[in-house]
Amino acid sequence: MEQKIFKTMDDSTIQSMLNWFHLMTNVIDGSNDWMETSGSGRNMYRECDGDPLVTWKRGYSSAFDILMRNLPKQKNGLDLPLSGRILLGKIVNQINWDSKKENGDQQFVRVSCEDGSIYECDFVIVTCSLGFLKHNAEQLFLPRLPLSKRNAIEALGFGTVDKVYLEFENPWWNSTWAGVSFLRHEQSLSDEWSENLLGFYTVRNHPNLLVAWITGAAAQAAEALPQDQVLQICSQRLKRHVDSQFVYSEPIAVIRSLWYLNRFTRGSYSYRSMQSQKADAWACDLAEPVSDSSGLLRLFFAGEATHDHFYSTVHGAVETGYREADRITEIVNSLNSPIL
Ligand SMILES: Cc1cc2nc3c(=O)[nH]c(=O)nc-3n(C[C@H](O)[C@H](O)[C@H](O)COP(=O)(O)OP(=O)(O)OC[C@H]3O[C@@H](n4cnc5c(N)ncnc54)[C@H](O)[C@@H]3O)c2cc1C
Repeated sequence: MEQKIFKTMDDSTIQSMLNWFHLMTNVIDGSNDWMETSGSGRNMYRECDGDPLVTWKRGYSSAFDILMRNLPKQKNGLDLPLSGRILLGKIVNQINWDSKKENGDQQFVRVSCEDGSIYECDFVIVTCSLGFLKHNAEQLFLPRLPLSKRNAIEALGFGTVDKVYLEFENPWWNSTWAGVSFLRHEQSLSDEWSENLLGFYTVRNHPNLLVAWITGAAAQAAEALPQDQVLQICSQRLKRHVDSQFVYSEPIAVIRSLWYLNRFTRGSYSYRSMQSQKADAWACDLAEPVSDSSGLLRLFFAGEATHDHFYSTVHGAVETGYREADRITEIVNSLNSPIL
């Protein structure tokens, strides 16, 4: 059936669909251009089992609620829930992973924060984004990270994918309408950010919202603009595409992500780039723990970009946290004496 549809289309429409598919692929990969994505790297990605469309109505904190409910109320004398043991608003600005106590015997990891607080730790699991590492690894770690780790940080791809939500007083579309994809003819292809919007789509459980996806350099250009300008340009583009079908009304607000400008993310999610392929630098290199000068593993890496197969996802990020916690548990269990 699909083949028949394509047979009735002219070449220019097919080309426009291919252009749209290119943008869509960039959104999925998180890359700026599909030529930057490694084909063999992409084959490492795996879909996870189950329903791929799970919407957390009350946000991602629901995931933590579920995880924490599985834990016993009291374990090893520690009071649960864990929220009392999590320090928020602490910005780490240095991790010295080969520190020595004043007497020179004992080693530990010294974590320094922007507010001047210092924590002495047996082990550290680094879970900041690959984007943050790309921009800050040189200043963050003392001593410098080993070469293979630096290569992985540089070579693995980390792109920008943003969402722009438009809010309307009332929906002007009907209940069967799922959204509109913007097809661009070859002659209208340009680097202009708004020409690279994928389209506008309805949002589950939010009847007055439409969302647009934008990726790569176009997303970064949009982030640099004031919100009002983004609202105006998005509305103009949307109106142009739906005016013949519906009685359009102007949006009342815009909500958008700024994943590239956010100093703690510097992008959205990782992909396997052509550079990773050339350098043979993959998630396992990023995940490799680092030992101090005594040979004990001290520094561990988790987060989506360190997952061999579920990178760029929440479930991937969660699994890597378990992976590194298990690794530390094994090390501790194998030691005969306390570490510090
Ligand atoms: C538009 C978009 C759509 C997505 N859609 C999906 C989807 O449908 N399904 C899915 O599974 N995934 C999706 N993802 C991907 C998912 O959100 C990420 O893969 C996941 O959040 C990564 O988790 P993480 O813990 O590795 O990193 P992060 O979520 O980036 O967490 C790292 C944390 O470290 C903190 N941090 C960084 N530096 C410091 C510092 N110096 N000091 C202290 N704290 C610091 C950051 O503030 C942040 O809280 C999407 C992402 C985007 C942007």
